[in-house]
Amino acid sequence: MASTSNRKWMIIGAIGIAALTTGIIITRKYKTQIMNILDRTKLALVGRTINKIIIHCTATRASQDCTVQLIDQWHRQRGFDGIGYHYVIYRDGSVHEGRPLSKVGAHCVGQNSDSIGISYCGGVAEDGTTPQDNRTDAQKATIKRLIAELRQAYGNIPVYGHRDFANKACPSYDAKATHN
Ligand SMILES: [Zn+2]
Repeated sequence: MASTSNRKWMIIGAIGIAALTTGIIITRKYKTQIMNILDRTKLALVGRTINKIIIHCTATRASQDCTVQLIDQWHRQRGFDGIGYHYVIYRDGSVHEGRPLSKVGAHCVGQNSDSIGISYCGGVAEDGTTPQDNRTDAQKATIKRLIAELRQAYGNIPVYGHRDFANKACPSYDAKATHN
């Protein structure tokens, strides 16, 4: 009886240790992944001077479909040569490449040549027009992380919101105060 009981506890202990170890490995793996969201080779070969980061929103509702492919269509309809932003941050916090960094963006009149344009999916209320900072926690974390990584590549460059250069609400929050 005693040996059966001991065996039972040994098995429970082993499962516990295995679960703990797996948990630690998954956490480590995840952290490694999020630290390397940008391809450093691409950053080095950008071929133009980067002096600033400009944050935008897509002016879509939180519930609305928003992908790099859709934005590419919207921007082509506006006569741009494809998506104007360099990075798009989805509602789940994932980062997606838009226009290559080597190419001047089409996101902020007069400020495109030396900037990087980042847009998060969202920025308006469910009525489709009222500006609203509806960024998810995941988006907030990713914006912060992406800025930090870009600053590692390009120095401590300032961050602005689109509204600092135009009479617009975009990106529906004070990016300048938040990120500098
Ligand atoms: Zn904008």
